[in-house]
Amino acid sequence: MEKIANYIGGELLAPMGGDYLDNIEPATGKVYSLIPRSGSADVELAVKAAQKAFPAWSALSNAERSKHLMAVSNRISEKLDELAMAESKDNGKPLKLAQSVDIPRARDNFAFFATAILHQEDEFHNMGEKGFNYTLRQPLGTVACISPWNLPLYLFTWKIAPALASGNCVVAKPSEVTPFTAYLLSQICMEVGFPAGVLNIVHGLGAETGQAMVEHDLVKAISFTGGTVTGARIAALAAPRFKKMSLELGGKNPNIVFDDCDFDRAVKTSVRAAFANQGQICLCGSRIFVQSGIYEKFKEAFVQRVKGLKVGPPQESDSRMGAVVSKAHMEKILSYIQLAKEEGGTILHGGKQVKLAAPYDGGYYLEPTVIEGLSFDCRVNQEEVFGPLVTLTPFETEEEVLMMANSTEYGLACTVFTQDLNKAHRVAKEIHSGIVWINDWLVRDLRTPFGGMKNSGVGREGGFEALKFFTEAKNVCFNF
Ligand code: NDP
Repeated sequence: MEKIANYIGGELLAPMGGDYLDNIEPATGKVYSLIPRSGSADVELAVKAAQKAFPAWSALSNAERSKHLMAVSNRISEKLDELAMAESKDNGKPLKLAQSVDIPRARDNFAFFATAILHQEDEFHNMGEKGFNYTLRQPLGTVACISPWNLPLYLFTWKIAPALASGNCVVAKPSEVTPFTAYLLSQICMEVGFPAGVLNIVHGLGAETGQAMVEHDLVKAISFTGGTVTGARIAALAAPRFKKMSLELGGKNPNIVFDDCDFDRAVKTSVRAAFANQGQICLCGSRIFVQSGIYEKFKEAFVQRVKGLKVGPPQESDSRMGAVVSKAHMEKILSYIQLAKEEGGTILHGGKQVKLAAPYDGGYYLEPTVIEGLSFDCRVNQEEVFGPLVTLTPFETEEEVLMMANSTEYGLACTVFTQDLNKAHRVAKEIHSGIVWINDWLVRDLRTPFGGMKNSGVGREGGFEALKFFTEAKNVCFNF
């Protein structure tokens, strides 16, 4: 069985303790590779390698660093099919989705930050006869990047690329649930001659490997994407050590459909926003609020469309939904479906596990599930489920829907469907979330700030925000 290796100091290494974890294929429920269960000694080695590489890497010109990052981007592009297949197998997502979204985005993340550093302006503040100021933005040193399982290579590279582009060396940990494409990224780095020690990838459990990174004194910043509870734990460990932190956490995103929307577009986009990647995207719209005048019509059209989403083996071309990521996660989602029934909800579609024929009979498949009749403040409508489960809730007025949409502890994203320009701007301003889409979903310009309000996170990623996060600003005041 294939053994994944750590990537430290430019070499593929076994974990020092010799321990491995099972890597399970969600589509079949079977173990198909082994993951290093790395400990603090492996993290120590990775930090040492990063520290050693830092002087030379940070001294490179932006143009030279850009070339190294572009080489990785180009190689990801050349290996797109192999990487997409690996992502689909490791995560359970449809191969088509990995081919069209995950891997192209990983390629673009490297290319975006490789070129962004070529176009950065420096800050200069003129004080007239008293002199002037300029701001140096210097890399921090060694930084940690920790990412989740839902968009494995996509989110891993979204952190690593800006950290590297701005001159830092990185120790990174992908989720232990989906480590494979990070391992393939190690191989890509070796193939393109990426400088040794600049990027180090250490596999293992969050509470062991991840925590050792967070606690390490020489790690100057932590860029983390994952659950809110884990984010709080990381913040508690990092804050007394005065580390910089960027936390991208959970969401419970509202999808607001007004009477005056483009109806077909609203239905089509809402289905995609609800069930893409089996509902396992932090930006998925899992609470759909529909204005009363079109509620019944929307419900009928929405459920009709959901019925057409075929749940099947991830690599089959007509599967619209694959497997959810793990048995534990499937059981968590099923427990929320049960809770929805106890809270008085009516299941309009789905609600059950899907049993496929061998060899997929042990896989973790769920029906896309649509529920109505729940109060906006019940647990199912307040807690993040992170699976193929959405609720439909009618509303009368703009004030009422804003109150319900803003009622959760989260504030990551929101989608609004309306053709009224004024209303769109008003709602965008009043909604508590870091990202608002009007008449669309998941469209991303990588230059824009990305992140959440309230318990959905601290700080912003994307564009120059990310490059700023990974640097220390130093003002130089010059009096001539
Ligand atoms: P987790 O919080 O469980 O894990 C995220 C990462 O943190 C994993 O690599 C995990 O390792 C690691 N980790 C866990 N415990 C610690 C610790 N004590 N110290 C350091 N690292 C640790 O999240 P999931 O992987 O379950 O991802 C799903 C969550 O991510 C959802 O809540 C979702 O909303 C959120 N998310 C947010 C996004 C955003 O941009 N705001 C985007 C995508 C997802 P391991 O897996 O090995 O335990």
